[in-house]
This record gives sequence, C-alpha cells and structure tokens, in this order.
Amino acid sequence: MRDFSSDHRWLSINTATVRKQRGEPWPLPKILDACAARGIRAVSPWRDQVAAAGLAAIAAQLEALDLELSGYCRGGLFTYTDDASRRAMREDNLRALDEACTLNAPCLVLVVGGLPGALASHASGGAPGRPAHRDIALARTQVAEGVAWLLDEARTRRMPLAIEPLHPMYAADRACVNTMSQALDLCDALDPDRSGALGVAVDAYHVWWDPQLQAQVQRAGRERLLAFHVCDWLVPTTDLLEDRGMMGDGVIDLPRLRGWVEDAGFAGYSEVEIFSRANWWQREGGEVLDTCIERHRRCV
Ligand code: ZN
Repeated sequence: MRDFSSDHRWLSINTATVRKQRGEPWPLPKILDACAARGIRAVSPWRDQVAAAGLAAIAAQLEALDLELSGYCRGGLFTYTDDASRRAMREDNLRALDEACTLNAPCLVLVVGGLPGALASHASGGAPGRPAHRDIALARTQVAEGVAWLLDEARTRRMPLAIEPLHPMYAADRACVNTMSQALDLCDALDPDRSGALGVAVDAYHVWWDPQLQAQVQRAGRERLLAFHVCDWLVPTTDLLEDRGMMGDGVIDLPRLRGWVEDAGFAGYSEVEIFSRANWWQREGGEVLDTCIERHRRCV
C-alpha cells in the first residue's frame, strides 16, 4: 500500500467539495487555481461548473496548470418515461462523453438514475420530484439498457465508463445500482472481456457498510477499478445528501479500504468528495483544501 503520509501526490479534489463556500459560489477557475497553488495534481469537476466557466477555457486552464482529472462528474440518469425523455437523456449523455474527452478525463462517472421523475430538478428550484412509477425493477432494466447503449458510444471515443454504486438511501431518486456486486454484474454482462472500457467508481461513503465489500473489490480487479472516492460517514448523519464528513471525522476505516483497493491493483488518485452544507461549505475554501491535504496524509 502506498505511503501517503509525507506528500499528496495522489490526492484529487472533487470540485463539489469547495463549490459554494459560505454561500458564495466558488467558480471552477478559482478552484483550479487554489488546488494548483497547493500542489494538488488532480481534480474531478462537475458538468455545471465546467459549463458556467466554458469548456474550452477550462481545458486550457487545466493544461496551463498541469492539472489532470481523476474523473468527470457525471453521466447517467438513464431511466425515462417516454421517447422524448429517453432522447433527451441520450443527447445529454453524449454531450457528457464529449466533454470528458475534451478534458482528457480518465473516465466518465455514471450515477445511473432511480425512479424517473424522482430527482429534485434545478428547473423546479430543487423541489423534490414525483416518481412516475414504483417499478424499481423496470428502472434497473432501463439502466442496463442505457449503460449498454452508452458503452458503444464510449468505446468509439475511448472514454471509459465508471458506474458508481450509490448507498441504498438514494435508490429512489439518484441510483438504483446500490452495491458493488450489482455494478460488477452489469460490468460482467456488458464487458465480459474486462477490456477496461467499463468499470466502477468506488466511493467509500456509498459502499463502506457492505459486508461483501472486500470480496467485491477483489472481484473488480485492476481493469474495473476506475476511481476511488473518499470522505467519511458521520454519526449521526443529519442530511441524506449534504452532510458528508471530512476523512477522520467519522466511522469509515479508510486505510483498510484503500488497502483492499490497492491490493486489487488500483494505483490512481484518492478523490476527496465532500458535500457539507452546514460545515465545510461554511468555511473558507483555502482552509477546506488545506484540511483535505492534511487528512489525506493522516487518515486515508
Ligand atoms: Zn463519489
């Protein structure tokens, strides 16, 4: 297992971690500058942040700062109710793929979607949606179809797809793929040759509780382990989405999990991904990044 205690060469920052400090949006160009100034070598940006700053401008800034991506957030949301919503979903995923290519991402991260209509939308001011139905098996069938379709497009662009299993508390609105086992079953069905075109993003927050985790990490192996996300699970957790903890502040044994992931062949970045409305988003962004560096060395 790599020794992270004396440098942060393998730290990446998911840019949602510092996206709105003290209620003020931190624009992506500012985040990239702040990361580069601290010797952070990689980031994982979100599509809305890239769109706000301009794709070409971000690509140029990444190159100028010698920053690379540990992933691109995100594609997916494959479930639909009718032809029009399926068409819109596909067009949006193709745009996500092309953006990932422009930014030289190592993979496009997929949050696969839950019951269609359930996710709070920006258009409705973030209000919770109404699920169109209760058939989670149908949702999972549509996810399998969607990943299969996108995989063909991704192969022609040489952009790997990383399915991110989400904690079951998000099954209704964000992702009905909820365990490593489920995600790897999809990978095995769609990419039996383990070509590297399809794999998983292992996010400690989503999978730490899984009694099969170690076995499933081994099953994934080097070809399927495309991204590794870290933060911590707080006790108690006060918000289902935006109360993630800083590494070391919760109950996840991150070094043990990283050991399993690295034993299986993963040698990439530990990407810090913290959504924290009441705590870390209330602090000065530089303080958050400095804390990420310190905790990455000590707690990951
Ligand atoms: Zn994640």
